[in-house]
Amino acid sequence: MPLPSLEINQARWNRLLLKSYWAVLIISVLLECSFLLVTQLPAGEFIPSYIVRPTAIMAFIVVLAEIGVRYLPKHHDYVLITSATFLTVTITAIHSSLEYLLFFLFFPIMISIFYFQYKKLLFAIFNTVISLLFLHAFNSDIHQRVSYVGVLTMASILLVYSGIAFGVLARGRELLKHLHTSYESNQELLVRTILMDKLAKTDALTDTYNHMAYHEFTDHLVVQADNDRISLYLAVMDIDNFKKVNDTYGHKAGDEVLRSVASIARSKAGINDIVARYGGEEFVLLFTEKSFQDAFDLAEEIRQAIAATSHEAIHGLNVTVSIGLNAYSPGMGKEVLFQGADAALYDAKHSGKNRTALAASVYNNSNFKA
Ligand code: GH3
Ligand code: MG
Ligand code: MG
Repeated sequence: MPLPSLEINQARWNRLLLKSYWAVLIISVLLECSFLLVTQLPAGEFIPSYIVRPTAIMAFIVVLAEIGVRYLPKHHDYVLITSATFLTVTITAIHSSLEYLLFFLFFPIMISIFYFQYKKLLFAIFNTVISLLFLHAFNSDIHQRVSYVGVLTMASILLVYSGIAFGVLARGRELLKHLHTSYESNQELLVRTILMDKLAKTDALTDTYNHMAYHEFTDHLVVQADNDRISLYLAVMDIDNFKKVNDTYGHKAGDEVLRSVASIARSKAGINDIVARYGGEEFVLLFTEKSFQDAFDLAEEIRQAIAATSHEAIHGLNVTVSIGLNAYSPGMGKEVLFQGADAALYDAKHSGKNRTALAASVYNNSNFKA
């Protein structure tokens, strides 16, 4: 499994590293200025050799690093490791009398750890080894002060530090992988939970919402309607003479008709409406965000579309539905809403079926024209 991208906030980290280079430069100048107080060299000789020249060289290196990071964004890591190497070589070469400063050559290795990549770490180790050998070979002061045993000792310490750096990297990458794995399994779990939730709310036969989902949605919608945030209507829809369909053509054909009726209702309902199978051959339709007239018109449109559809499963015959429609008024509660719609359905059944009847409570609605 590949590691997740390590480029997160890279620009911010590059900026931070560049700031640390400027800090190295400033600390070096400050130290040189303090040496000025104790040096036996005349100021006229000390200032140009130990303050002006090294500061100019280091500033040049850091400015090059700034330019490199900006204009070679793909190689920002190598630019920063290389410039760290040049910085350390400059500082150690200029202060060749302070041989312990050679330890500063480990600076690029420390920088490379920020990238969490073995390739960059190896590159930094290579830079440090070359710098050490170069300074020992070509800087006469260092050559005289540091014996071959000293170089060997430094190389050994370098080896130990590199080992630690590798360990830090391996541990970091291991943690990253672990994070990545748990992130992936969390995502998987989330997807599975969503699918399970959908499954738990869906009626297997008709692919509409089921009884439980209807109650869940109504609970939420009733709260909104109580606060006058939405308009809410409930239609209870029951297939007429469905028992006869089953008795004549069998349950399988009956199932086919149920599926088709549900699909017609779903296709007519808008995005603000909910179609659920309440049980058996009875459906509930929740209409929101419309006027009562629109809710009634939609219920009628669904009823008429169902009546106009012939079903192959029952030899091309049609079925009809009866609908009871109720409007929610604040404080009514979902039980009363349902009872009103169910009573209206009873009226529709007893006044000839294949019609939409209104709950008693909505007859007083002056805006409504049935
Ligand atoms: P009405 O017009 O008064 O509603 O008459 P009806 O025959 O539709 O009413 P009734 O309640 O007597 O019958 C409903 C039938 O619906 C009985 C049952 O066999 C059938 N039914 C309920 N659920 C299913 C189902 O999942 N599949 C099939 N095929 N039939 C079902
Ligand atoms: Mg029925
Ligand atoms: Mg019924």
